Amino acid sequence: MSIDCQKLYEGKAKILYTTEDPEILLTDFKDDATAFNAQKKGTIIDKGRMNCGISSKLFQTLELQGIKTHFIDNPTPNQMRVRAVKILPLEVVVRNIAAGSLCKQTGLELGTVLPQPLVEFYYKNDSLGDPLLTSDRLYLLNLATPEQVDTITHLALQINKLLQEIFRQCDIILVDFKLEFGVDSQQQILLADEISPDTCRLWDASETDPNRRVMDKDRFRKDLGNVEDAYQEVLQRILQTIEQQNQNQANY
Ligand code: UDP
Repeated sequence: MSIDCQKLYEGKAKILYTTEDPEILLTDFKDDATAFNAQKKGTIIDKGRMNCGISSKLFQTLELQGIKTHFIDNPTPNQMRVRAVKILPLEVVVRNIAAGSLCKQTGLELGTVLPQPLVEFYYKNDSLGDPLLTSDRLYLLNLATPEQVDTITHLALQINKLLQEIFRQCDIILVDFKLEFGVDSQQQILLADEISPDTCRLWDASETDPNRRVMDKDRFRKDLGNVEDAYQEVLQRILQTIEQQNQNQANY
């Protein structure tokens, strides 16, 4: 790493460094795993490389389909160079199937297919436990402008359609996921952070068993075992599917 790189911020899953270019930051994906607002801690061997690989491929594919992301390139397999943005303090969750906190808070049965995707905003604030926001609370706290909320909601739904299709081709069901957005120096909204089994619920479409089908961080949260294998399988399926698509396009 260059001597110009200084640690800017260390989060639960990533470390952010400055680079010689103020418009570019370097993200280092860690193997550390946390759940339940960091009450549960552990390590998922090689998670940094796997999540960086999955996120990078997904960001690149979304970019090709017109979604602006912070992704630039990968100097090493567990590092991502990204455009510097100011992250909005919002966790934007999109749900296609009921799971996790939606089931806990509404009584909906796990696995209920939602009639339409649900977009929810949570306040990204660890000390408050990332609470679910109402739009009045979001504006009360000045977390984003109405225009930004409109743009983000539209982008989240568009990204959901694109990701659902990518995962469908991988024989994976996209249950729900969390996105973060940032604002760049030109006030553009970019998709940021990561898209990985840490931030998505992914179910193997060929499995019906409620434990065996899980290919995401719920394996760690619920001590289901084979966490690394599941992450590696997601990476492999994504790489294979996208490679196949590229070949098909080249032959066309
Ligand atoms: N999620 C995340 N970070 C968070 C909270 C949620 O990446 O801090 C993801 C989570 O992995 C799932 C989706 O957002 O794919 C919805 O999570 P939910 O609200 O059900 O929360 P849970 O209580 O299950 O973490």
